[in-house]
Amino acid sequence: MSKLLAAGWKSVSLVDVVEHPSFTLWLCGCNLMCPFCHNWRIAERDSKICKWIDIAEILEEVVASRFLVDYLHVTGGEPLMQYSSLRDLLTGAHRAGLMNSLNSNLTLPVKYLAYLVEAGVVDHVATDLKIPPSNLFGLPEKSTLVLWRNYLESLKLIMESETPLELRIPLHKGLTVEVLRKYLGEVLPYISRNETIVVLNQLIGEPFTNPRNPAWCREYCGVGEELVKAIVEALSDVGFKKIVVRSIPGFT
Ligand code: SF4
Repeated sequence: MSKLLAAGWKSVSLVDVVEHPSFTLWLCGCNLMCPFCHNWRIAERDSKICKWIDIAEILEEVVASRFLVDYLHVTGGEPLMQYSSLRDLLTGAHRAGLMNSLNSNLTLPVKYLAYLVEAGVVDHVATDLKIPPSNLFGLPEKSTLVLWRNYLESLKLIMESETPLELRIPLHKGLTVEVLRKYLGEVLPYISRNETIVVLNQLIGEPFTNPRNPAWCREYCGVGEELVKAIVEALSDVGFKKIVVRSIPGFT
């Protein structure tokens, strides 16, 4: 069996999938450069924390936890960068009786996600709605436009495959209700508002976290309660039924 470049796992996590305990695995490498990212060493494949680990070894740990958790939740970094080996892991977790949850930024070409969805090994997807992408992807404008199109195509695939979606929105001072409405206009055709759980993540900077770009966080992190309320209202207005507010750092 193949290997995955991973930073580690938590055998039982109560915070990674809303309403479900999970075995959470962090995979290394990412195609984005989010300024608020607190997993940036994992995203940049830091050799001090990222190791090639046999999938069989990871599965042994997953199996040991299977009576305590509902999902194997794979996060990162960007797990789809290792889509081929990831399929082996997710297939093994299914055989062990677990459901699989994938946390992805959904900005890679849709064929990688399709490879897993068509294999029937993805039972739940969590993704950030990083808006505006020009501020949150941390990449040049030209690449950002391409990646945003990939994001929309991936949402469409998730909707068409009827995979449950958890949509996480990082809250920062550059996100106004107007910006939210503009981007909702683009994503709503690809999201079931009745079923999707929306999680609002209030970004927090130093000294509580270690973001990739501390100067960015000093400018944008730490939104006030008024903005949180306005965002909740705007989401309710367009028909979202399940909205959770969290105060956590740059969750991925
Ligand atoms: S926040 Fe997620 S998508 Fe962004 S750089 Fe970090 S790991 Fe990658």
